[in-house]
Amino acid sequence: MKIRLELQDRARYPFLKEAHEIIADRGITLQTITTQSLAETYRDAAVSRIQNAALVRDARSWTDSSDPFLDIVSYALARVLVSCIRNKNGIGLLARYEADRALYFLQVIEEREDVKKYIYQELGMPFSRTDIEYTRYIELASTLHDDRYRLVNRDLWNGRVALLSDEQDLLLRERIRMLVMDQLPLQIPESVCTKLQPAVSEVESIISERLTVEYGEVEAQRFPPCITALHEAAAEGKYLSHSGRFALTTFLHTIGMDQTEIISLFSRAGDFNLDMTTYQVDHIISHGDGGYTTPSCATMKTHGICIGKNSHCETIRHPLNYYRKQKKTGKTNRSQADPRTTAGSAENQTTRGAAKDDTSGSADK
Ligand code: SF4
Repeated sequence: MKIRLELQDRARYPFLKEAHEIIADRGITLQTITTQSLAETYRDAAVSRIQNAALVRDARSWTDSSDPFLDIVSYALARVLVSCIRNKNGIGLLARYEADRALYFLQVIEEREDVKKYIYQELGMPFSRTDIEYTRYIELASTLHDDRYRLVNRDLWNGRVALLSDEQDLLLRERIRMLVMDQLPLQIPESVCTKLQPAVSEVESIISERLTVEYGEVEAQRFPPCITALHEAAAEGKYLSHSGRFALTTFLHTIGMDQTEIISLFSRAGDFNLDMTTYQVDHIISHGDGGYTTPSCATMKTHGICIGKNSHCETIRHPLNYYRKQKKTGKTNRSQADPRTTAGSAENQTTRGAAKDDTSGSADK
């Protein structure tokens, strides 16, 4: 199906190849974008886009831009900026924002049925159907942690999974989010990132501030029981298994503790070696696009470091979700821990973990 997309259409759905084409048609490349007469305008628009992506807002609304071309360039350059900082959180924020934005245009603003149909087709999503092919469903629902999205809880018929209308929207948004995520980070030459340095620094601050808003100050009393046990063991200089150190480091890094503080925490161990610890912590927090992911509860359990599980653990599948929930409700794991389910001390528990990193643990949701 081939249709004519106007400039405004391309600005609404900038992940389409047609949006990229218009940038190339106007002679803008990675090498020239920093030297164009409008370079500053482009950079400001891209930073502003990331700033919007970092805003904590439950319900966003968008309108068409008065300058659709600038809108398209801001999308392209925002991808470049988050790629320069290679930060997983920044990429995740941008992908979620773009998915929310495109879905809003499709549902609320878009009047042309042929455009809607084309977008669905380009995304490989069923249009005007209340079911989806099951392999596609598995792929898209893999990041949704609610039990209702597990395949065993779905109506499956002739290889297709039935969907309610809110579920169709959710999967469409997931599809767009994954599309944007999968393309990032871009391979950007160091020279380009250097030229964009002021904007790159601005984006780093935006993301760091956003993390502080999301997780607030580090509050050890709101850690999940497993992390409390590991944290206390480290603070007392006790031995931590490799998987225990890995889980603790990824967790603390994600909630905003800096590298020096993490290394300092491990410094109380009798066999502490500054160079070795710095290397290990740096490896964990700098891996890929912003560090390794904190292991899920299932992985923690497999490694024998799901320690002190309490009743509130029943409602989450990830230690970071536990922490987030506790921050929101203002409760602590100590006040909620059920002593009957608290399984032993950190000292004997933390020595059990297998020496295997979890680099494939489920994304924190
Ligand atoms: S269930 Fe999850 S959050 Fe709770 S103690 Fe185990 S690993 Fe930690």
